[in-house]
Amino acid sequence: MARVTKHRDKILEALRNLFRIHKQAPSLNELCKELGMKSSQRGTLQKWLKSMRGIDVEWDDNFPRSIHLLREEPEEAQIKISPEETLRYITTGLVEWEQRKPEQRNNVPEGLRIGMSQMYLQSLLQGDKSAPQNLPEFFKWAQNPFVEEKFNSEFENLSPEITLIDDGLTSDFTRQWQVEGSNITKEVQEKVLQDVLNHCRGNQLEAEYRAFRKLIITKPVLKYSEYRRMLLSSEFRSLRNYLSKVYIDLDKFEEHEFYHFCPRCGYIQRKRANGTYNCRNKFCDILCVKQNLPPLPAISKDEVFENYKIVTPGIHQYVTIPGIWEIYLAEELSKLGIRVTLWPEIDEYDLLVELDKNNRWAIDVKDWVSIHPYITEVNYRFDATKTLVVFPDEREDTLRIGVVRKQIEKELGGVKLKLMSEVIEDAKKNLNKSTN
Ligand SMILES: [Zn+2]
Repeated sequence: MARVTKHRDKILEALRNLFRIHKQAPSLNELCKELGMKSSQRGTLQKWLKSMRGIDVEWDDNFPRSIHLLREEPEEAQIKISPEETLRYITTGLVEWEQRKPEQRNNVPEGLRIGMSQMYLQSLLQGDKSAPQNLPEFFKWAQNPFVEEKFNSEFENLSPEITLIDDGLTSDFTRQWQVEGSNITKEVQEKVLQDVLNHCRGNQLEAEYRAFRKLIITKPVLKYSEYRRMLLSSEFRSLRNYLSKVYIDLDKFEEHEFYHFCPRCGYIQRKRANGTYNCRNKFCDILCVKQNLPPLPAISKDEVFENYKIVTPGIHQYVTIPGIWEIYLAEELSKLGIRVTLWPEIDEYDLLVELDKNNRWAIDVKDWVSIHPYITEVNYRFDATKTLVVFPDEREDTLRIGVVRKQIEKELGGVKLKLMSEVIEDAKKNLNKSTN
């Protein structure tokens, strides 16, 4: 009896996990995989399921993927609000508010507005109305420790004394949590990748990190079947929750009669006032024209229904778009037979290029319009032969590396600036040298 109960609990837990990531029921194979069983054990699983039929689970014999749980506690509210996200909005808004001149403080910063309404919605969903509803109430709330209240279960490691406002000023915690940048919604979305990075570093998941990053760069739009396969694969198992935060339903993201996709980055295009479509990223759009890329087939609204997942606009802008260059350079160098590792040591930098044992290049790729002051933050790597910051040739018009290189490199302590074509040429020369 104890054995049966153990299986039952395991199966129920697996089903709940699967339903948490998507409402469509799993196939027998997928459930098998989720339970860590071999596909040859499907018969055993089927037997267990039959013993639970009508008590814990039910399905329709005529329809695949029809298994569902019986007697479940009422489902969690459909609207899912991530507490981390809420906290990022609130802290960012709070810092912005603090920096405003007193006469401008009547306007609530966007972050604070979104954060407060998320908090209020969340508390309503939990059947409690204690969340602050206006600014005075909010400021009163923010001076009290909050770990015990709204965010208790999600932030186990926070000290219970932490407050958002300390002695009338934003606390260290608030300043540490705020998101810097001009477009707060997009910045918050991009922070998911930071969470993935921290999670992977903490658990030494180098291969998983690489697979995740590559996926959101190369496949910003996924057919649902493919998305599901990713979620259930062992490669993404430990990053499943993040995957479901990064990919959203296409039909919920935007409604169109027809969906058009950018031929370069693959992301959903924006409809212009004149009825034509273009990429949300301006430079990507310019490159489509320059490279004369043929349009991709559009998908009609009916085909889209629940069938596609896309990355959030923030991930597209901050990860997919610059990532296209990282992958391009890695592929060009790999074609020469060179060993290239993307995001080595869980994203210490972008590319490790190993020409031979004694010749290793550490590369950071920057898709910048002009040289950014952040350039000085790239550290010279003593474990590599060369440390390079590499830019796409397509940006040279505004970057003018050829002109400014010498001057800027003086400040960089050994870090060199290169265009992609120069790195590829240097790599070829090095290969010739070592074969001669
Ligand atoms: Zn594009």
